[in-house]
Amino acid sequence: MTLPTDRPDDPPALPVEISAAPDIPYGLPEHCGQAMVRTCRLSKSYGNFTALSDCSLEVSPGEIFGLLGPNGAGKTTLIRALLGHLHPTSGKSLVAGFDPQVDPVAVRRHVAYLPGDARLPRHMNGKGVLEFFAEIHPSGELSRSLAVAEALELDLSRRVAFMSTGMRQKLALAVVFGPRTPILILDEPTANLDPTVRGQVLEEVLAAGRDGRTVMLSSHVLSEIEQTCVRVAFLRRGHLAHQLTMSDLFQRHRVVARTESPLQQPTNRRSKTTALDSEARKKTTASADAASATASPATPDAMARRGDREAAFWEVPSELRSSVEVGWLDDGRIRIDTAGDLQPVLGWLSELPLVDVRIEPLGLHAVYRSVHFGDEAVVSAGPPCSTSSDVGA
Ligand code: ADP
Repeated sequence: MTLPTDRPDDPPALPVEISAAPDIPYGLPEHCGQAMVRTCRLSKSYGNFTALSDCSLEVSPGEIFGLLGPNGAGKTTLIRALLGHLHPTSGKSLVAGFDPQVDPVAVRRHVAYLPGDARLPRHMNGKGVLEFFAEIHPSGELSRSLAVAEALELDLSRRVAFMSTGMRQKLALAVVFGPRTPILILDEPTANLDPTVRGQVLEEVLAAGRDGRTVMLSSHVLSEIEQTCVRVAFLRRGHLAHQLTMSDLFQRHRVVARTESPLQQPTNRRSKTTALDSEARKKTTASADAASATASPATPDAMARRGDREAAFWEVPSELRSSVEVGWLDDGRIRIDTAGDLQPVLGWLSELPLVDVRIEPLGLHAVYRSVHFGDEAVVSAGPPCSTSSDVGA
């Protein structure tokens, strides 16, 4: 079941497409391979403008998968291509084992879809809308829709035409959470909702995941993705810029600290430093030493001590080099980003002359900034794509 939208190239609003009930509960059809959703080099252009470019990703059964990106990043384009609502310029996709270009009805039978701009029959009241959709969908469950509406504190007696934007969003959510399809695709599900209701919607998403359903969720609210998703893909100007599992994210930390006395910041790497390779480290240490030598007329002993200390900063122990990135914040504090086990990093830090040390989880916000504003904490952009023949139905 997919709710209609106002997009010009979407299928007619009503009736909502229905067919036989999904013949699989939440598992994967045999012909589907390992992924519930798979795209390979999926692209969509409008004239010269590319809305989605070479997007390859996989979503596993039961995974709650987030799509993150600013407005215009291509999230909706990707989702609509998955539902067969638009024809990709190139590339392929499979949803529950079906190619949306070949068998869109089979795809939509397995998917409950909340569009970003859902359209509902304006002449009906809320209860009537829920009854209507529960009746026409073979796996519709009015009781579930009513329970969701109640949890969202929606007044079902009001006609859609007289509902606020937030009320309509709640109603659309109650419709979409009704049938137990194996896949749930939610485009900005918490848009126009107040914080309490947002929390309730996220609970429903988590419950779907606990039921073993596969969820794709687009949002630009980072905390919501952090709270619900197992994995997240970052879209940027139509490109899949980065993918990350939440378990990896939760292993990342940022250490921010002051040094006992100001160190010379390398002039060529302001606030954007990664783990330094040995050549760069030598140069940086040399330039820092040179700068500190000119900065203060210290005694030779003091200069030597300062040189040692700076060298200690830039000399990340070899066993930590692959997981530690050292840089500077604009206020002059040192910034050390770590991935993986903190224990060995703490050992190294304890040997450095640091004060006011703060350690906190890196968080999605920092990664998002990396992806979108070019901070260097970005890692590779996800798994390699299958060949197109792998994706073929
Ligand atoms: P998001 O969902 O991430 O906000 P969209 O996928 O809706 O982004 O849009 C991606 C880009 O494609 C945007 O720049 C949007 O203006 C453009 N776009 C979407 N649909 C069309 C269309 N039918 N014709 C031209 N450009 C479009």
